[in-house]
Amino acid sequence: MATRPLIIPVFLPHLGCRHHCLFCNQKAINREIPSPPSVRNFIKRALERFPVHQEGRNRQIAFYGGSFTAMDQETQVSYLKEVRPFLSAGRIDSVRLSTRPDALDEEVLTVLKAHGVSTVEVGVQSMADEVLLLSERGHRAEDTVSAVLRLIRWGFEVGVHLMSGLPGDTCDDFLRSIDQIVKLRPDFIRIHPALVLKGAPLETLWRAGKYSPLSLNQAVEWLKRGIPKLEKGTIRIARIGLQPSEELEAHLLAGPYHPAFHQLVDSAIFYDMAEHMLQDNLDGSPPVFVCYPKDLSSLRGQRNENLMKLREKFGLEDIRIETNEEVRKGSLILKTSSGIFSMDRQCLAAKESTRDKFWKSGSFSDLNRGPEKACLWAGRCSQGD
Ligand code: SF4
Repeated sequence: MATRPLIIPVFLPHLGCRHHCLFCNQKAINREIPSPPSVRNFIKRALERFPVHQEGRNRQIAFYGGSFTAMDQETQVSYLKEVRPFLSAGRIDSVRLSTRPDALDEEVLTVLKAHGVSTVEVGVQSMADEVLLLSERGHRAEDTVSAVLRLIRWGFEVGVHLMSGLPGDTCDDFLRSIDQIVKLRPDFIRIHPALVLKGAPLETLWRAGKYSPLSLNQAVEWLKRGIPKLEKGTIRIARIGLQPSEELEAHLLAGPYHPAFHQLVDSAIFYDMAEHMLQDNLDGSPPVFVCYPKDLSSLRGQRNENLMKLREKFGLEDIRIETNEEVRKGSLILKTSSGIFSMDRQCLAAKESTRDKFWKSGSFSDLNRGPEKACLWAGRCSQGD
């Protein structure tokens, strides 16, 4: 697996934004807008602080917080020019930036290519036109389709940002957005639920009772159903939930924020897998689950919540858990006196109606060869849904 780049973020809050999207208040997260000359000093200082043991990783400057390519071309170039000396000296490897899907035409891409930009993160937010309209995004889903395909054709690394629970959004809309993104095949995705932030236009709607964010449970439920689709589609998930920060927490008014949101989603996925497996395989013997060591806390759930719920649901006195480096990350093995069963989380991406027999029995080594071997319904899953 490629090592993640070391990113030096430069925040340009709301620069280039053609619309003030209802959910957004970048100034809640970052106040100052650095001028192009100050960017050069900022990069210099950041490079001096680079940890020596992380030398060798790809180093990227990232322009975040606004719609970089929606700024006038002169301003874009004035920022990118400040990175040029570091690129020429080999101190920075490339540039990434985030922007809107309707500001990525061929002329823009020519400028980006000429200035060392390798990665473009596209603010997709939703693939439902109604949701985009109600969120005052000012673009349509077809803009995202053409922007992502164009970026891929031009050889950029492409990331997409998706949100759940925007005005008008439903779980079905959200899952359809994920399906469409899987078809577009970006390199990676970041997803987070919509929050109500102080100063964002959504605050007014929320105060007037015209918008309700998702509850934390709903947000986890939507993501729990969407993430396996992305994993099955082999789209790299760069982040689930917003990066926790003091500023974000100080501006949060309402919504499903949790500093360990990703882990809540992972735990919910493991709960589903464990529940499916126990439903069909309990034989009176005490069940033993085996997972990859780093999956242990997700399998247990926060404060052992998964284990407690499973014990209660199936009337079990005890559920044992073992870890084994040889278990595939994200998979789950169940041992009972009747046999050993395996399930891969990507199988959860199949249609609900076919979810009831996703386990397969066999020997430990047979079961642990990846989803195509571990999942009884692999053939069916791979036809998509
Ligand atoms: S979401 Fe993007 S385009 Fe919309 S206001 Fe925020 S930074 Fe600007």
